[in-house]
Amino acid sequence: MNKLDTALVTTALEEAGFGLSESVKEADVVLINTCSVREHAEQLVLSHLGHLKHIKKSRPDLVVGVIGCMAQRLGDELLEHEAVNIVCGPAEIPQISELLAKAVRERQKSLAVTEKIRRKGSQQQSRALEEFESAYGIKDERIPAQAFVRVMRGCNNFCSYCVVPYVRGPEVSRSSEAVIEQIRKLADHGVKQVTLLGQTVNSYKYKIGEKTWSLADLLEAASDIEGIEWLRFVTSYPSEEHFDEIMQVMAGSPKVCEYLHIPAQSGSDRILRAMNRNYSSRRYLELLDRAREIVPGISIAGDFIVGFPGESEEDFQATVNLVEKARYKNAFIFKYSPRPGTKSDKRLQDNVPGEVKQRRNVELLAVQEKISDELSREFLGEEVKVLVEGLSKKPHLNMADAGDNPQLVGRSSGDWIVVFNGPESLTGKFIRVKIESVSPLTLFGRLT
Ligand code: SAM
Ligand code: SF4
Repeated sequence: MNKLDTALVTTALEEAGFGLSESVKEADVVLINTCSVREHAEQLVLSHLGHLKHIKKSRPDLVVGVIGCMAQRLGDELLEHEAVNIVCGPAEIPQISELLAKAVRERQKSLAVTEKIRRKGSQQQSRALEEFESAYGIKDERIPAQAFVRVMRGCNNFCSYCVVPYVRGPEVSRSSEAVIEQIRKLADHGVKQVTLLGQTVNSYKYKIGEKTWSLADLLEAASDIEGIEWLRFVTSYPSEEHFDEIMQVMAGSPKVCEYLHIPAQSGSDRILRAMNRNYSSRRYLELLDRAREIVPGISIAGDFIVGFPGESEEDFQATVNLVEKARYKNAFIFKYSPRPGTKSDKRLQDNVPGEVKQRRNVELLAVQEKISDELSREFLGEEVKVLVEGLSKKPHLNMADAGDNPQLVGRSSGDWIVVFNGPESLTGKFIRVKIESVSPLTLFGRLT
């Protein structure tokens, strides 16, 4: 979501005459796009702001803006920070060029956050957001081969630990016509892979005339668009509604990548209830079984929170058991972080000590790593189709053995990271790589 918002804001600012700068030293304006999901992310932003405050002592004209969820959550409080000129929430980003121009011109602080964010937005606000969103990638000729398209905003689930419903507002599905039109235009500009985004993307619903569009319908319609070769969607909520239909479209369309990100959060039914997640571990695992029945070879990823208030050793063991049964490609594991305003923060005590959270995090990661390692080994000697993302983190590696070609990185349909050497001009193209060695999260190989 934040990558997409950053791309939208960058495009809008370029159209308004601003240019991207390589470093803070050269920039006249610094914008920080923020996340509020965990306290740690917010602390990082505060430490960046401390650094910018220092820089502003010698460059008082530097304009600093904070956008995104932290801006919405803290509003005025953040505007009081000495370094900050602009605070702009996620639903207000269509105003960003105006706010910046004003800050540069008038040197005044400005605040743009949504009042009463859980109330349905005004028509004017929805129209502004829709126009801002759908303009992305339409004029920009340099758009990369892959793009994100938001299909829903906000969330209505109110998982007890989560700040998203309070900072991104109520769940709203974008019109299916607007989404399909946007994908078509992105394809016209050379985009080959589109990732559909929503906090609970599988609950997408949009009524046009007699028909209510689901995510399965969207995927089917997007599969017919010429030029689009791969379609993905994140993140799925473990719900039965439309689940089989979505899996059937995945099985039937070669364009829909065989990848499902479906967070479980915990394997303990007691903790799942306290988290306000509407499923049991048994029903969750049944969904994974169905996914594998309909799409054999599907690659599945999950999210977990360890150290939720009241999580006992027994609860944690239930999570370990679930991870062992789920056989994820990978899992994102987070230590519980109390978020102000959420139910778990108001009603439950953050009573699992830091060192216990840390130990459970490490233990669960180790269980998952063993599974990722076993799954990655199945690729040895296989050839995989890869969309090339660009230079790897260590582009100089193995250059001598590869005709001076740098090390590149890409992803397979199942979202495996694939590393190989080849000309940088392959960026944005589909290629085939023969896998010669593996690590738990990465496949290494040679161009075929
Ligand atoms: N909408 C997605 C879903 O329901 O699965 C996830 C959205 S959330 C931005 C991404 C992940 O952050 C969650 O899956 C959860 O594991 C983690 N998360 C959210 N709130 C958290 C908290 N208070 N402490 C720790 N992790 C948290
Ligand atoms: Fe947060 Fe739950 Fe909504 Fe995901 S589904 S964004 S975890 S409230």
